[in-house]
Amino acid sequence: MTTLTILGGGPAGLGLAFYAHRSGVPFVLFERSSELGGMCRTLRHGEHLYDCGAHRFHDRDPEITRDLIELMGEDLFTVDAPSRLRPLASPVERSAHAESCASEEEEI
Ligand SMILES: Cc1cc2nc3c(=O)[nH]c(=O)nc-3n(C[C@H](O)[C@H](O)[C@H](O)COP(=O)(O)OP(=O)(O)OC[C@H]3O[C@@H](n4cnc5c(N)ncnc54)[C@H](O)[C@@H]3O)c2cc1C
Repeated sequence: MTTLTILGGGPAGLGLAFYAHRSGVPFVLFERSSELGGMCRTLRHGEHLYDCGAHRFHDRDPEITRDLIELMGEDLFTVDAPSRLRPLASPVERSAHAESCASEEEEI
């Protein structure tokens, strides 16, 4: 069987590797940095952990949600923290909103 080559160990590459493994498809994954996770990594500094992103899980696909729950087991837990997505179209728009949104940003 042909070996699948996966470039990048971010969520996309790791997701592909997970389903390839489950389907019995041989694969090799290349990651250029020393850690897996891409932009979803959690960095450790001493005893403190820093998430690269918000780590919101958008559970829109029941099958993916089920797989993730199964995969994560007890490592998956709900965090009740104020968080908000704010789509802004362009740097110009971001700049125009920056001042008026300053107090709101602090809530995130
Ligand atoms: C601040 C922030 C907050 C976010 N919050 C959320 C959130 O709450 N929920 C959510 O669902 N998404 C969130 N995202 C988006 C999410 O992080 C990305 O959609 C996701 O990481 C994309 O996954 P990816 O695997 O495509 O790319 P990446 O995460 O960028 O991973 C790519 C990987 O490929 C590696 N790579 C690059 N080039 C090569 C190469 N030539 N050879 C080998 N390896 C290579 C990189 O080192 C990296 O590990 C957030 C993003 C940011 C920046």
